[in-house]
Amino acid sequence: MKATLDHVGIAVRDIEEALAFYRDRLGLEIEAPEDVTSQRVRARFVPVGDSSLELLEATGPESPIAKYVEKRGPGLHHLTLQVDNIHDALAQLKARGAKLIDEQPRAGAEGALVAFIHPSSAHGVLIELKQREAGPSSSDSRRTTVVDARPATVSRYTIGDLELISLSDGFFRLDGGSMFGVVPKPLWEARAPADSRNRIRLAMRPLVVRGARTMIIDAGLGDKQNEKFRDIYGVDRATSLDHALAEAGITPDDIDIVLATHLHFDHAGGFTMRDASGRIRPRFPRAQYVVRRGEWEDATHPHERNRASYLLDNYVPLAEAGVLQLVDDDQTIMPGVKVLRTGGHTQHHQMVVIESAGKTAAFVADLIPTTAHLGEAWIMGFDLYPIDTLAAKKAFLKDAVDREILVFFEHDPVTVAGYIKAQGGKRTLVPVEGASRG
Ligand SMILES: [Zn+2]
Ligand SMILES: [Zn+2]
Repeated sequence: MKATLDHVGIAVRDIEEALAFYRDRLGLEIEAPEDVTSQRVRARFVPVGDSSLELLEATGPESPIAKYVEKRGPGLHHLTLQVDNIHDALAQLKARGAKLIDEQPRAGAEGALVAFIHPSSAHGVLIELKQREAGPSSSDSRRTTVVDARPATVSRYTIGDLELISLSDGFFRLDGGSMFGVVPKPLWEARAPADSRNRIRLAMRPLVVRGARTMIIDAGLGDKQNEKFRDIYGVDRATSLDHALAEAGITPDDIDIVLATHLHFDHAGGFTMRDASGRIRPRFPRAQYVVRRGEWEDATHPHERNRASYLLDNYVPLAEAGVLQLVDDDQTIMPGVKVLRTGGHTQHHQMVVIESAGKTAAFVADLIPTTAHLGEAWIMGFDLYPIDTLAAKKAFLKDAVDREILVFFEHDPVTVAGYIKAQGGKRTLVPVEGASRG
């Protein structure tokens, strides 16, 4: 196991008093405050080289920091080691008899996964393991401020003559059981830790393809939802598609084509926006919106089983604005980009295959929403036709291995894209990080 020191946590009675030493007497630079309200602590990070000191102050008597300070007085509280793969690290520690506070990683700040090792196994030191959210952040990889450590919003890839730019529309949460269908929780939880409401964290990553024209495939959740919706789905769009487009240097006017894999709200929510007068209109003013006809029919005639996923405001205004283009079959949408119906998730769910100069990428959308869904039976309970998903997935996985297809995972909270390799009858994923700068 390889680990680097991420930060050292110091429990203090009063952050301002502690700053009088660390900032004023030592003269260290202090970063912006971070509230970790769930742990009832206030934290300030003090960078020291590649790692940092984390000053922790309790914000209530029930805070673990309050209890610590009461029992032992202020002082060193924990140290945090950053590891590449927290699941592997925990499995190794467990196999070697270490006592773990967390047998499974849980979600930490900024998309990290964290787990604590019991001090009794670590000679009196509370050790936190941390796996940072992967993906392209700034070139600076140390633990930094809330602002710097925000999940990366832009990752750039090249496929032959085409540029692919994965953009983040933030995160949301869905029930873990629904996300993994017949797979029992003890199995899926090891790959996708659930929160207290049994929800797992999912990203939304539309993909921009730049070639003869500029296309965006899906557009995330958008911002038309109300507070109740945002609570149910744990919506976290602190950095949204707006930020990502700006960071990528793309304006909504630059988009010529918006292509839908299907019309569920986490894919089509960003197709429309509410303007200043409250009217809902297309969010990309110059774009033609390309939707599969069968999907359009289903989405505009929802039934009891799919109604919660189809929100008419996301796409009906496109037809009213005259920017909708329905396609009937698998076909090329722009040079190098074609759609392929997979069915399964919805009857007309389609994936997008991108080919240029002998290289291939695939945007598989909800056929394989996350890297945890690579197993053939790991199929979402949401899928209307799971047996069709199975068939489409089997065929695609074989193709992805044989043809070395770069696969984009629209909902994976960590991995943007990767290659699937077959080794000894087992499939593994080799993540590929894109560049964050253009
Ligand atoms: Zn869907
Ligand atoms: Zn989805």
